[in-house]
Amino acid sequence: MDTSRVEKLPQIEEGIEEIEDVEDAEEFPSSSTMTDLVLCDLGLADIPLRYLHSTTFYSPENIRELVLSHNAFFELSGISAFVNLITLNVASNSLTSLPDEIGCLSKLRYLDARNNLLDGLPKTMCSFTEVENINLSGNRIEQLPNAIFNMPKLRVLHLGGNLIDQLPYAIGSLTSLEILYLGGNRLQEVPATIGCLERLTSLALCDNILETIPHTLGELKHLESLSLHNNNLKTLPTEIINLRNLQQLSLRNNPLVHHFVHNMELEPPTLKELAGRVVRVRMSKLPLKDIMPREVLDYLQSACQCVNPKCKGVYFDARVEHVKFVDFCGKYRVPLLQFLCSPKCKAGTPTIAIETSSSESEDDVFQPRMRRVLLG
Ligand SMILES: [Zn+2]
Repeated sequence: MDTSRVEKLPQIEEGIEEIEDVEDAEEFPSSSTMTDLVLCDLGLADIPLRYLHSTTFYSPENIRELVLSHNAFFELSGISAFVNLITLNVASNSLTSLPDEIGCLSKLRYLDARNNLLDGLPKTMCSFTEVENINLSGNRIEQLPNAIFNMPKLRVLHLGGNLIDQLPYAIGSLTSLEILYLGGNRLQEVPATIGCLERLTSLALCDNILETIPHTLGELKHLESLSLHNNNLKTLPTEIINLRNLQQLSLRNNPLVHHFVHNMELEPPTLKELAGRVVRVRMSKLPLKDIMPREVLDYLQSACQCVNPKCKGVYFDARVEHVKFVDFCGKYRVPLLQFLCSPKCKAGTPTIAIETSSSESEDDVFQPRMRRVLLG
């Protein structure tokens, strides 16, 4: 950090001197309309005073984009001088709060404050009616800041890597949202009002401790990407089949998937199992009740039918757990677990690795279908 400061600060100062050098040059009017000010990675703890005041060739009021990222700001005093800012980037500093004076920046549309130490937003940001995109990922936020609910044009909201353990019902009022990132928090549940975010195309709820997701998720008709990996989900709501635009669904590292994928080790069946299967299938034709001990009969009665309708087989303990991807609406696939009598018993329908045959005519009609289901 220090080296970059030493190397880069003189360059900035030289730049200013150059501007001052040409202060009297009539043929250099464009510098008075300088609109971007980039002061990143300079080890700064304050905005240098010279940038806070107007000169002949510079005015903070003309700045539309201000980049202060990767510095050492603990606070952000003087920011109200940039009253016409549209983009403010204060990412990767040490800010514990944003100042109340930030409320003066009523034209702001993009705020990047990721990777700081923020625990909220000042109330004065309720005046940010033009804001479209806020990135607050990698901070220390425990609750959604109230100011966010007064931003009617907010389309993109990043709150990943914070300490949020609850979402308010009011989340459903952010009806302009298209991208909502809440990965890496402490959420156990999501309120049903999330189904009101009807413009949402991307929703990330990965890396939380979710045990359920609400069935209203099925109302997000424009959703294209749904990230649910690294949670505690045991089931998905059936309404998920209504997400007709869904192209990517990530589910890895949920109990739901563990049950499907990781427990599919096949133990060789015992001789008792194998013998029992043969006897059980033919039992109705044999006068067994008279000659078999009671406990053997009970065992034979406990047989389960193979789920493959084309197979008449049975199993006792040694079943094959088989993931089958089932078409919903001919458009995307949802994993279901089947119990078969042996690894060779084919259920007659496509399994995981398929891009093939069955119901092709339907598939052709309903292209495109879901492109990626990430299970492991
Ligand atoms: Zn079978």
